[in-house]
Amino acid sequence: MNLYQMPASALSKMIKSKEISALELSESVFSRIKSVEPKIQAYITLCEKTAIETAKSVDQKISRGENLSPLAGIPIGIKDNICTKGTLTTCGSKMLYNFVPPFDATVVDRLKNADAVITGKLNMDEFAMGSSTETSYFKTTKNPYNLNFVPGGSSGGSAAAVASGEAILSLGSDTGGSIRQPASYCGVVGLKPTYGAISRYGLVAFASSLDQIGPIAKCVDDAALLYLSIYGHDELDSTSARISPFSWEIENQDISMLKGLKIGIPREYFSDQIDKEVKDATLNVLKILEENGSQTFEISLPNTKYALSAYHIISSAEASSNLARFDGVRYGYRAKNYKTLTQMYENTRAEGFGNEVKTRIMLGTYVLSSGYYDAYYRRAKLLQNKISSEFSEAFKKCDVILTPTVPTTAFEIGCEIDDPVKMRSNDMNTASSNIAGVPAISLPCGLSKDGLPMGFQLICRHFEEEKLLKIAKCCENLIGEIKLPNI
Ligand code: GLN
Repeated sequence: MNLYQMPASALSKMIKSKEISALELSESVFSRIKSVEPKIQAYITLCEKTAIETAKSVDQKISRGENLSPLAGIPIGIKDNICTKGTLTTCGSKMLYNFVPPFDATVVDRLKNADAVITGKLNMDEFAMGSSTETSYFKTTKNPYNLNFVPGGSSGGSAAAVASGEAILSLGSDTGGSIRQPASYCGVVGLKPTYGAISRYGLVAFASSLDQIGPIAKCVDDAALLYLSIYGHDELDSTSARISPFSWEIENQDISMLKGLKIGIPREYFSDQIDKEVKDATLNVLKILEENGSQTFEISLPNTKYALSAYHIISSAEASSNLARFDGVRYGYRAKNYKTLTQMYENTRAEGFGNEVKTRIMLGTYVLSSGYYDAYYRRAKLLQNKISSEFSEAFKKCDVILTPTVPTTAFEIGCEIDDPVKMRSNDMNTASSNIAGVPAISLPCGLSKDGLPMGFQLICRHFEEEKLLKIAKCCENLIGEIKLPNI
């Protein structure tokens, strides 16, 4: 097996025991990038020079006998809406085609302190709006399992990079499903933590009350390692929570914790819109869990049917406000031709934003306008309360909720981009956990007959990341790995 194909948990041990050097690992990943990036197109910016320097400094620290973090020397890619000091951060938009932040996001700062190697900035849907990376101004990333198919989105570059060995780990962001849906499409693990578990300082905001940064990884151990390196309170983000740490054992997870585990199966997440193959793969996971002593039973979360509508109203409302700052004055793109200040604003925004972003800004402005606020925004916020209380009620009966992550496997490039309803239906099983703020993880559960990955989702109570990851690891042990893509 090549180094770029191995999990961070194993590589970390090999670096510390000097079986390999951090430099060898980074070189392996960058030579992989050179060979497959022309096909996959996962990156917007590569940081090879600084990556190699960091790797060398890790090797020096090891030779001096310093005690290093588990992520020391591990190559990690960053979604391009997370600010990196001195490195282009575009959000996949023409509007920020030249924006070089003067500061690091807190998560990046924490990764640098952990001596992680930052490989570069990963492609995404423009301002994280989309499910395929096709709304990126720069390029469309390809699915490593089939280059004619999308990798999902908006963190499509982050998922494709990990699946193809162009990064060992990556960070994505999830507002309605943008970590879990691409993870499911690319056969990797994606964790959306509880709202407030990870600082959003330096994450360019799409919908501030729903956005969360989270890890994308080859396996649950790796997702846990990355999560534990970046989570917790940050005085620069007042919504970040003070949470108690937990330790993570790489070696094994005792599957006896599955005995008596109460697993809720919400009937609304298994509707007719879910592909039969995806449904069957998810039901197969349930069967395996039952065989290992878990108690599974049907539950109902009836307001799920409104989750997507509430999500789009709330997220667009917040986006319309958050994106008002892109006006050609402060940073980024500025139109060349204008006569008045107003024209400068108008032309900059008309030329700098793509259609998907403009649609959402218009929708958001509409639902917040004085005549329609009560009819749309207020009702969406009421629904948000209902959806959250349904989850709380459900968690009185069960420990964890299990669902398919996405209704289908990855779709062909170009086939949903002109069908916004279809494109949005990708998030029907993921958006509700953002609405309620609860943590959720997507794990691979096999390949379809067309050779595309399928995923299932586990959801726990607020701040139960430890339990969620432990259950996920048991599932992973029992399901086994899926075949790597052949690029
Ligand atoms: N696909 C969803 C959307 O288009 C979710 C995006 C996200 O989570 N950032 O809004």
